[in-house]
Amino acid sequence: MANEVYAPLQGKRAVVTGAGRGIGRSIALTLARAGADVGVTARTAADLDTLVHEIEAMGRRSLAVTCDVTNPEQVRHMAETLASGLGGCDILVNNAGNAGSHKFLDHPDELWHRMLAINLTSVYYVCKAFVPRFIAQKSGRIITIASIASRIGDRYIAAYTASKHGVLGLTRALAAELLPYNITVNAICPGYVDTPMTDGNVQNMMRLTGKTEQEIRATLAKMSPQQRLIEPDEVAGLALYLAQDISKGITGQAINLDGGAVMS
Ligand code: NDP
Repeated sequence: MANEVYAPLQGKRAVVTGAGRGIGRSIALTLARAGADVGVTARTAADLDTLVHEIEAMGRRSLAVTCDVTNPEQVRHMAETLASGLGGCDILVNNAGNAGSHKFLDHPDELWHRMLAINLTSVYYVCKAFVPRFIAQKSGRIITIASIASRIGDRYIAAYTASKHGVLGLTRALAAELLPYNITVNAICPGYVDTPMTDGNVQNMMRLTGKTEQEIRATLAKMSPQQRLIEPDEVAGLALYLAQDISKGITGQAINLDGGAVMS
């Protein structure tokens, strides 16, 4: 029918971590546009409030809970509040994360622990909080925003790379264990995405190299054969596909979204 709205996630409930900015914000809006009610979480309440209003303006339900995903008590509270507020949860997007770099010589232990906490242990806590619901209802979608650093190693990002390789291991192990319950678990592995996190990386590299913003951005773009940064909406489009019923045959996978930089 000509006027029928395509809403493949109509009736579904989604939770997105790190939804305040960048990729997470784009995923939350994309899932809502596709018909889902969306619970959002991050540490900054003001970012979440704006997002909730935007989702509600689409006619969907939305709830926000501030939470530091590295804190297991806060994660349990967030999961309970969002899942009961939305009347359940069908789709979990583990997006919250952070990047940090340092050469390995004199690598600060603090950076190592911080990267593992935000990029790996947080995903363990969040999955632990939602998986019992998914098992009980015998369905669920878990989508984790990993990184191309989950697939290859590079200089100066030992802790980030180790954490992102780890989250891929967790994805695969969970995919195998949750298979009998009709739960799929997948990871998206983007190259450089144009987000506030990348803006921060650019500032850091400017400081370390003395190069201009334009030069650093050009260097990052050249890491992709397509000579460009990925847009957050491209990551959101893939998350939307993995959230739908039609993707039920895909589990335990890591899908690269990097303009063809890594072909495996
Ligand atoms: P941004 O820094 O732009 O946004 C990150 C979001 O996560 C914010 O909303 C932030 O909100 C939230 N967040 C950060 N730390 C915590 C925490 N401890 N608890 C709860 N929420 C937190 O990042 P991006 O959008 O760029 O990245 C999103 C994900 O994509 C990350 O996992 C990142 O590693 C991955 N990725 C990013 C790439 C890129 O080039 N940008 C490339 C490949 C992967 P607040 O600070 O308010 O908590």
